[in-house]
Amino acid sequence: HAKHTFLDVPCFYDSGIGASVRKRRQLGEALRHALEQDELAIHYQVQKSLSTGEVQGYEALLRWTHPQLGPIPPSEFIPIAEENGLVRSLGVWVLRRACMDAVTWDKPCRVAVNVSAVQFMDANLPRLVHEVLIETGLPPQRLELELTETALIKDKGRSLHIIGQIKALGVGLALDDFGSGYSSLETLRSFPFDKIKLDRAFVDGIESDRQSKAIVRAVLALGKSLDIPVLAEGIETDEQMSVLRLEGCDEGQGYLLGRPSPIGDLAQNRQPAQSDTPRHQRVA
Ligand code: C2E
Ligand code: MG
Ligand code: MG
Ligand code: MG
Repeated sequence: HAKHTFLDVPCFYDSGIGASVRKRRQLGEALRHALEQDELAIHYQVQKSLSTGEVQGYEALLRWTHPQLGPIPPSEFIPIAEENGLVRSLGVWVLRRACMDAVTWDKPCRVAVNVSAVQFMDANLPRLVHEVLIETGLPPQRLELELTETALIKDKGRSLHIIGQIKALGVGLALDDFGSGYSSLETLRSFPFDKIKLDRAFVDGIESDRQSKAIVRAVLALGKSLDIPVLAEGIETDEQMSVLRLEGCDEGQGYLLGRPSPIGDLAQNRQPAQSDTPRHQRVA
């Protein structure tokens, strides 16, 4: 029976707490295997200027297709990887692959990489980022790391130190999911972020509910006065897009502008008669 481990699919349908613990452990093991077996991929989602429509960059989003269970969303496997420590190796893999991909793009735009709280607190992160930049030849200005507030608030002194080292490399920092946490203003005051990514929950209600629109306005005003550009996440409709434009939001990302897609499919994001889009080949 020991041979079955993660392939023991029926276990996934067990019930009870024991089963869910077992399931998490199995998924964790399967993920370790996935990292070795090339079951992981990165999809890229375009980020555009809302005033000019120009491509500003792409966010790297990790994808895992389990041979039996099919695609498993990052919201499910990242927490498991944070628990079993695998998130560090996953993070290195994503960072390296994203930088390798980005250097092959025709347009020398930004690549944004998500960094989990666990990975962020690793004192080796700045050195790792430095090594990957040298190894891949990606100019530091083209890399942006996306952090959430939960990564920062546990140990502010340590966070400031790590962030200082990352910024010294010339790498950009974006505050992800802004508004979904609880200490946003303090975070903005204390840490030198280069971008605010407004959580898609606020974009979602922007055409219909007054509260969302008021919050979006306030965040945009905050960004303006702090001189930090704001990117709106999760733009799905033309209406959301035009409200955000009208309100002076700097950048946007969402299904309307482009779905996350494997690098080979970036042609779908290409605008007619535009040659400055990423090339369609994967780095060997
Ligand atoms: P995130 O960094 O906030 O990424 C944006 C998420 O919103 C992505 O989900 C993206 O597919 C989704 N999204 C984009 N546009 C739209 C839209 O118009 N509507 C809706 N409903 N959703 C949209 P995804 O890829 O499932 O990733 C979820 C989260 O998992 C990410 O949130 C990020 O926190 C985490 N994640 C993904 N890749 C990585 C990674 O490589 N490392 C780490 N540490 N975390 C990752
Ligand atoms: Mg992100
Ligand atoms: Mg986000
Ligand atoms: Mg998120």
